[in-house]
Amino acid sequence: MMGQTPRYVLATQPRVARVERVGVLVIGAGAAGLSAALAAAERMDVTVLVRGALPESNSALAQGGIAAALDPHDSPQFHVEDTLLAGAGLCDLDAVSALAYDAPGLMRELAALGVPFARQPNHQFDLGLEGGHSQRRIVRVGDATGLAVIQVLLAQARAHPRIRLCEGWQVADLLDLGGQVIGALAVDAAGRWTRFLADATILATGGVGALYGVTSNQSTALGEGIAMAYRAGAEVADMEFVQFHPTVYRTKAGQGFLITEAARGEGGVLRTLTGDRFMPDYDPRAELAPRDVVTRGIYAALRRTHTDHVLLDLTHLPPDQITHHFPTIHARLLQDGIDITTTPIPVAPAAHYLMGGVRTDLVGATNLPGLYAVGEVSCTGVHGANRLASNSLLECLVFGRRAGRVAAHQDLGVRAPLVATPRWERDLPALERGDTFVPMWRDHLAAIMLDAAGPLRHGSGLARGQTALLQHSIQADPDQPDAITAANATLAARLILESALLRQESRGGHFRSDFPQTREEWQGHTLLQRGQPPQLVGVIAPGMAHAAD
Ligand SMILES: Cc1cc2nc3c(=O)[nH]c(=O)nc-3n(C[C@H](O)[C@H](O)[C@H](O)COP(=O)(O)OP(=O)(O)OC[C@H]3O[C@@H](n4cnc5c(N)ncnc54)[C@H](O)[C@@H]3O)c2cc1C
Repeated sequence: MMGQTPRYVLATQPRVARVERVGVLVIGAGAAGLSAALAAAERMDVTVLVRGALPESNSALAQGGIAAALDPHDSPQFHVEDTLLAGAGLCDLDAVSALAYDAPGLMRELAALGVPFARQPNHQFDLGLEGGHSQRRIVRVGDATGLAVIQVLLAQARAHPRIRLCEGWQVADLLDLGGQVIGALAVDAAGRWTRFLADATILATGGVGALYGVTSNQSTALGEGIAMAYRAGAEVADMEFVQFHPTVYRTKAGQGFLITEAARGEGGVLRTLTGDRFMPDYDPRAELAPRDVVTRGIYAALRRTHTDHVLLDLTHLPPDQITHHFPTIHARLLQDGIDITTTPIPVAPAAHYLMGGVRTDLVGATNLPGLYAVGEVSCTGVHGANRLASNSLLECLVFGRRAGRVAAHQDLGVRAPLVATPRWERDLPALERGDTFVPMWRDHLAAIMLDAAGPLRHGSGLARGQTALLQHSIQADPDQPDAITAANATLAARLILESALLRQESRGGHFRSDFPQTREEWQGHTLLQRGQPPQLVGVIAPGMAHAAD
């Protein structure tokens, strides 16, 4: 099915498109894009294209913190071991080591740049403890760590003479010539198209949570970058591994708002709408079972009761205990008229994080010369089948910097030689038309994805989802920005379904009720590439990195 994907999302070329020559082109300005831009700007001019208004990104929403072995009793090696355990046999040891060993120095640098990380009275980092970490190693800035980091990176980028930040640009397609990526085609808010020709292109477009509608992510996290890279011929790996957060409240404005696991840690219980506590029947650890188990328990209850949410009940706890531990949640829900000291919180599992993505090496390079991928859009091998908490912002910072530096130093053994002026028109092939545009595409897509590729999957549901997605266009006209978004999002959704159908086992963030066990013969990566059949590659043994395939 994926083999028929057209090369371009645009069904026809834009009639008028400016051509602009840039040095390094960065697409996206979350933690990954900004880190990459700052690193690349050490040597080259950098243009950053970003969809919305800065600092809008998932990075700015990140709450808990960033993992780094900074405690005297901790070590990067312990961080590596915890990450490998969470990844359920699919982590790349080299990538995890890069992550863990780069982390402490990077955190000290960020602190020196002005990120106001929490400190103890003796000025040491005040490190938090999170699930899956064997040591206290979470650096944080209250419950708004992401925003604090982004503000500092953004200030650096804005002040940098070699960085140009361009807001309100929608990138639609990557451009290639002679097998290498040479930039991207993008449209500004006024509908004007530009072909950005770059020596190196760094994709930093984030994850896919918004494909599911019910999500903790911002609404633009639609996997568009993954779709663009796939169409250009990039390898896309492990797309089936989507992490769901069990307890997300949907605000009156329709946004997902995370209710921290600590609410269950403090004694909160989950109930159906008729008041029945259901988790003890699902798992002996009840509400304190691991995140993916609680998610599946809630999901099973939703299906049984034909509802779209359950209740997280804190009302049996003393009110001052609730307001003391959860002041932000208390205040936010009061805005919607819910006093969590007296009223249970409506919650449902929500798509939170994508472990897979565009496959890269240890410097963010993809299989396509000239193209790098960093942050949640990438699959560096750090997370394997499941992400360890607070490793994702860190991945953005570590690999963003590595990719930025290498992209700006093409001569240092990297795969992206500089490109002379390309001849666009001659090289663009005749484009195929897609199917029909579905005006309510977000709702359609979300319904299909939740049903087929949510926390509980089954082969028949996945196949049904694939068929349903066939009615959605994966091409659009240049004067229809929303249809272009829909088309790219639909392709990203197809990639998730394709990988989930391929993997006939349950592992990490992927659970199939028709294959509920983890199977040794599936300890490898699903790999999708345009024009190729889906495959399982690189059955992993620690230390073998990507070499196994
Ligand atoms: C609510 C929440 C809490 C979290 N808490 C934590 C935490 O405590 N610790 C942790 O480590 N991780 C956390 N995460 C995960 C982490 O925030 C993300 O994985 C990480 O921020 C992703 O960063 P990124 O730079 O890859 O992408 P993003 O920050 O999502 O940035 C993507 C950028 O790409 C742009 N873009 C996308 N498509 C296009 C396009 N077509 N054209 C132009 N621009 C485009 C967007 O506008 C945006 O600028 C959390 C995530 C959420 C949602």
